Amino acid sequence: MSIDEEWEKLEREIATCSKCRLHATRKNAVPGEGNRKAVVMFIGEAPGEREDEMGRPFVGAAGKLLTELIELMGYKREDFYITNVVKCRPPGNRDPEEDEISACLPYLIRQIQLLKPKVIVALGRHAARTIFNLAGLKWSSMTSQHGKVYSARLLGLDVKIVPTYHPASALYKPPLRKDLERDFVEVIKPTISEALSPSPRKPKTLLDFAAETRGSKRNRG
Ligand code: URA
Ligand code: SF4
Repeated sequence: MSIDEEWEKLEREIATCSKCRLHATRKNAVPGEGNRKAVVMFIGEAPGEREDEMGRPFVGAAGKLLTELIELMGYKREDFYITNVVKCRPPGNRDPEEDEISACLPYLIRQIQLLKPKVIVALGRHAARTIFNLAGLKWSSMTSQHGKVYSARLLGLDVKIVPTYHPASALYKPPLRKDLERDFVEVIKPTISEALSPSPRKPKTLLDFAAETRGSKRNRG
């Protein structure tokens, strides 16, 4: 199966999943969307009302803020892959429960294995706690850990994990918006740039350039 076929199979499974109680009240499951070649994955908590209606992640008010934060870094949301820990909307937007997160986790794991991201941005404490547990890191609180870069080995991949506040929390507590903007511009943006550029510790030699020229000729041929 090609990678695209695997993504599509996974999305179909999520769309028809009934592994936890949330399937009974959803209108649409929300698998995730974006660039399947992205180096960066954004992980939120769970779909809200608008996401449930559209079957797409982060399309309501919190999504508008997430899109603005991404644009503040000079990127577009289509540059990245965006998903949630839980793929169906909890009724009344309550927090997802522990057994719902566990039931849904295998989907997030498969998404990480297919995408192989270098940077994971965990939006909010549910996403942060879930990813930290998966990476064997200790999670204590968003106040003490937001905007820090954690290098980890996650499912066999070397990743940088950056926890930050959930955009929805800045809608309830406007002062958090400044923290979010700072985390995005001063921490997440340079972490993405570093992941996109070749290792700075190994300066290129003339032989490397020569090898690349040959490589690109071969690729074009
Ligand atoms: N909040 C989330 O955590 N995810 C969404 O997709 C929308 C709002
Ligand atoms: Fe399945 Fe996840 Fe939806 Fe529960 S939340 S029904 S596990 S897709």
